[in-house]
Amino acid sequence: MAHAKRIGRAAGWRFWLIGGYIVIALMLAIFWGFSLLTPIDQVEEDQQNQSLESIANAGSVMLANSDVSAQDAVDKLASSDSLRITLVGDDGRVLADSQDDADDMQSHAQRPEIVSALDGEVGRDRRVSETEGVEYLYVAVPANYQGQAAALRAATPVSQVDSLAQGFRTTSLIMLCVVIALTAIVAFFVIRLTARPVGRLERVRTDFVANASHELKTPVAGIRLLSESIERASKDGDVDIIPVFTERLNKESQRLQNLVTELLDLSRLENGGLGGRNKETCDLASVVSTSYETHVGKARLKGLEFVYDDGVGSDELCRVNLPPADASLLVDNLLDNAINYTDEGTVEVSLSCTDSKVTLSVRDTGIGIPTADQERIFERFYRVDKGHSREMGGTGLGLSLVRHAVERAKGVITLDSTLGKGSTFTVILPKA
Ligand code: ADP
Repeated sequence: MAHAKRIGRAAGWRFWLIGGYIVIALMLAIFWGFSLLTPIDQVEEDQQNQSLESIANAGSVMLANSDVSAQDAVDKLASSDSLRITLVGDDGRVLADSQDDADDMQSHAQRPEIVSALDGEVGRDRRVSETEGVEYLYVAVPANYQGQAAALRAATPVSQVDSLAQGFRTTSLIMLCVVIALTAIVAFFVIRLTARPVGRLERVRTDFVANASHELKTPVAGIRLLSESIERASKDGDVDIIPVFTERLNKESQRLQNLVTELLDLSRLENGGLGGRNKETCDLASVVSTSYETHVGKARLKGLEFVYDDGVGSDELCRVNLPPADASLLVDNLLDNAINYTDEGTVEVSLSCTDSKVTLSVRDTGIGIPTADQERIFERFYRVDKGHSREMGGTGLGLSLVRHAVERAKGVITLDSTLGKGSTFTVILPKA
């Protein structure tokens, strides 16, 4: 269950990340597309109007301050073929034109932009030129030619504006395509990168379900077999054998109970971030004392020397970031293992607390752990010797519970072990 939830969360996170990314990219593309389709002509036209006005103004200044002829002035100003400059006198007569012979041209007295310019205002118009038959943008400014009021007009064909706008539109469309392609590539890599951990989680989950089912099957099958045996024995009147069966039945159900409890603990610890209890703290010194007391009997029974250097007492010095139940799980499992895997000698527990950290170490003179297995014993269901562990009532989950509790308290756990000599587990937790 815990794992299903985790995968759900991982997949959900991936979904939102990629979905959000695609939505943002699409929105940008759509906005961009709209901006390309609508106001570009207007923007271009405004820009062209601005530059026509600047050119006309420059010409007007030039005319007022030099004695060049009108024709020379308009020819100089019309630097390119697409620019047409016209000087109109205050009576509307064309004095000079950069493209046509002024004398052949009609009076411009009625042209709207000229009317405005002769009135002292900047005049603008967009219309089909009567002389050229082409649509033009016109901007005329007030001018002065040989002491007379005049209008200086700059004009450019609209097709020029359109082709500029078209060029801009084409560049933008290419950029839009590039951006969409980049978006697709990035999305593809994001999916691949994030798909990997989910795939891994999926495998971990299947492995876990397979392992857990297998582990549960054994005691359940045992219990069923034993209860059938008891039934048969009592029917047959074979009462002497019944206590043997019931004792084994007890053991198997105890194992089943351990397994279920540890699975539930594991599930709770793995989802530790979710519960409202993650801010809870506890005094590790009192947890260790209690755990030590509950293990004394078992250690004595095995003839082990069981020592706890209870020097620190119980005060605020040993407070760690773990709820008391999780701290008990941690300590109980380490003590259980030390006693279970030690046939003779000593199990020694020590605790030291400083201003910044709490150090718990559990040392035994037991069978030790082969170097090759030392990394793996913290994995769920991993056991060096399955038979031995089963005999001890072990589930293979103890150390993974310990590891989770340590991680949750933001601490570290280290193992120092020599095969045949013994093991020392050291847990260092930051102080709460
Ligand atoms: P189990 O329920 O089998 O004890 P654990 O997760 O607690 O499961 O431990 C995993 C394995 O690590 C054990 O099966 C055992 O092989 C090894 N182990 C753990 N603690 C010790 C120890 N103190 N000495 C030797 N081996 C140990």
